[in-house]
Amino acid sequence: MSSSTETQITYIDICSAADMEILLTPPQAAEGGQESITYIYRVSSQQLCAGSPVFAVMLDPKSSFLEATQLRAHKRQQPPSSELYQLNLSDSGHDPTALAAVFYALHGANEHLPQTIPFEGLCDIAVVCDYYDCADAMRPWVQLWMEPWKVHAERPGYERWLLIAWVFGEASVFEALTKRFIRNGSLIDGELNALVLVSAGPDCDIPHAIIDALSKEIIRIGESLVPMYLEVYKRYEDNTKSQCLRLPGSRSCDDFIFGRFHRGLKDAKLLEDTQCLTLQYIVNAVNEILNSISVGMASALFDGQSHSRCVSSLEKLCLTMEKMLAGSPPISLASIAGGKQKTAIPGWDDILSGSGQKEI
Ligand SMILES: [Zn+2]
Repeated sequence: MSSSTETQITYIDICSAADMEILLTPPQAAEGGQESITYIYRVSSQQLCAGSPVFAVMLDPKSSFLEATQLRAHKRQQPPSSELYQLNLSDSGHDPTALAAVFYALHGANEHLPQTIPFEGLCDIAVVCDYYDCADAMRPWVQLWMEPWKVHAERPGYERWLLIAWVFGEASVFEALTKRFIRNGSLIDGELNALVLVSAGPDCDIPHAIIDALSKEIIRIGESLVPMYLEVYKRYEDNTKSQCLRLPGSRSCDDFIFGRFHRGLKDAKLLEDTQCLTLQYIVNAVNEILNSISVGMASALFDGQSHSRCVSSLEKLCLTMEKMLAGSPPISLASIAGGKQKTAIPGWDDILSGSGQKEI
């Protein structure tokens, strides 16, 4: 039986003119009993620098970064070393297949790339492209790979589209999803609790800027929604005034409404700290409570009279709350610090007018 510490090495020759090796040992899927695998990608540092500003900083011949200095020193060795310079990316936690796909694409080795990839693969590619800031270099491939998954973007189970949309600048998908997560997310002890984070798993790769923006928006809308129903509730609670439209000054219909309103809000936990409740839940719960009051009022008589129209302010409250939640703006890609704005796709006539013009 093999020991759990045994390591299997898999070489992936990305480029025949490789000048360095990148090592990746993914974390073990399960504890113990598993053979560890190390992937060694043989790549050209120039190709990585051309497609990724992050690799350019790390490996460019002019860079003063430790990796670049080590790479230069390795190349200058006398006599030349038969071993290639190695860069270890095991701490990155990247998916080995996604990393290989990005490396192949950056080297123009398109014959190694499939036309379609699984959704999880697309998420892993987004993580790698975000990390190395190479979404632009990957654009043609990513456009192809995203296409079949776009119809699923707003379906349950595809919450990580938020990350994909962020990395590849798909503004409309990003905005639709942020609206959904604002409606259905909540804060527990100040931390965002949203399906997108559950879906992203414990090593959540959704950028903090997005999580912060979602949290702020949930708090902001909650601070407008909650006072709306509390204001109406407090009006009915104040027994020195009457809200009744039929018999001004009478408390009998007010007391009926207040009793049900109070019990409903209390049962729905809407009289406590509401941050742990989703905005959609708050609106739905208030709606249900007020609907049940309306139904009760329709058949009740006070002083022998129907007071069904006395609930008009409650009906108005429902509509206002629903409208406010539905009308809350999405978070735009541009509004988030460092938000990736897709650069405009140039036309044929733009090709020669790009950067790098020089007067002779
Ligand atoms: Zn009344």
